[in-house]
Amino acid sequence: MPRRRMTMASIDLHFHSRASDGALTPAEVIGRAHEREATLVALTDHDCLRGLGEAAETAARLGVGFLNGVEASVSWGNKGQTVHIVGLGIDPAHPALVDGLACVRQGRIDRAREMAEQLARVGIDGAFDGAMAWCHNPELISRTHFARFLVESGRVKDVRTVFRKYLTPGKPGYVAHQWATLSDAVGWIVAAGGVAVIAHPGRYDLGRTLMERLIVDFKDAGGEAIEVASGSHSLDDMHKFALLAQRFDLWSSAGSDFHAPGEGCRDVGRTEDLPPICRPVWDRLAERILRPALTE
Ligand code: AMP
Ligand code: MN
Ligand code: MN
Ligand code: MN
Repeated sequence: MPRRRMTMASIDLHFHSRASDGALTPAEVIGRAHEREATLVALTDHDCLRGLGEAAETAARLGVGFLNGVEASVSWGNKGQTVHIVGLGIDPAHPALVDGLACVRQGRIDRAREMAEQLARVGIDGAFDGAMAWCHNPELISRTHFARFLVESGRVKDVRTVFRKYLTPGKPGYVAHQWATLSDAVGWIVAAGGVAVIAHPGRYDLGRTLMERLIVDFKDAGGEAIEVASGSHSLDDMHKFALLAQRFDLWSSAGSDFHAPGEGCRDVGRTEDLPPICRPVWDRLAERILRPALTE
C-alpha cells in the first residue's frame, strides 16, 4: 500500500461548545474530537469558562491531552474593529480572568434585543425569542444563535448567508458592540498563566499595515502567539501567517473553530500541519497540558 503523507495534525486548539455558540455539550465535543483521533485539544468558548470542567473531565477519561482555553472578544483600533483573542493554558479560576470575562459578557442581552428590533423593522418578527431558543447559556446570546433561528425559520438557506445578508456591519441585524480592550484581554489571559493567541487573523479585514500594527499592540500587551492553521484560513492564508509569525517571533497555533456538525467546513479534532518554519504553541505550553493519568 502506498504510504500516505500526513497533512493533518491530531491537534485542535480552538472550538466551541454550548457554553457559548457551539451546538454540542462540552462532553460531546471532546468525544467527537476523540473519535476523530485528536491527541491534544483546547475548548475555547466565547468569553466564558463554564464548559471547561466537563471538557477536562471528559478528555481525562478518554485519554486526550487538554488545555483550558477561552476566546475573548476585543474591540481594537480607531474603528473599534472586533478581534478575537484565544487564551490557552489558562487557570479557569483566576479572579482577573473570571471577573474580566463577566464584564465582557454584560451587554450581550441588550445587544440581542436591539438586533431583534432591527430585524423586526425589515419584517422578521420574533427573532429575540427565536435566537434564545437556540441558546443554552443566556449570558452568551450571540449572532450565531440568530443565524440558526433565521435558517430554521426557512428565510435563509444557511448560516453563512445569514451573516452576509443580516449580521455583518451595514446590514439590518447588525449592532456594533464595545468588547474588551486588547490590553485588558491579553492581560487577563497572561495573569491566569495562559498564552494569548490572535485568533483566525485571516478573517479580519485589515490591510498589511493595520495587521502589523495589531501584532505590535498585541505583543506590547504580552501576547505571544497567532493562529496559523485555522478552519477560517485558506492554504495561502496559512503560509502568509506562518511568515508573519516567523517575522514577529510569535508561536503558532492550530484550531478548527468548529461550532456544529454540518456548519462551516471543518470538523473538530484535526487541523492542517503547521509549515516547518513555525514554532508550535504546544511546545510553549507543555507544562500547562493536562495529561490523563496512566491507568494500570
Ligand atoms: P458575536 O460574538 O455574537 O458577535 O458572534 C460572533 C460569532 O459569529 C463568531 O464566533 C462566529 O461563530 C460567528 N460568525 C461571525 N461571522 C460569521 C460568518 N461570516 N459566517 C458564519 N459565522 C460567523
Ligand atoms: Mn462563534
Ligand atoms: Mn472567533
Ligand atoms: Mn471561535
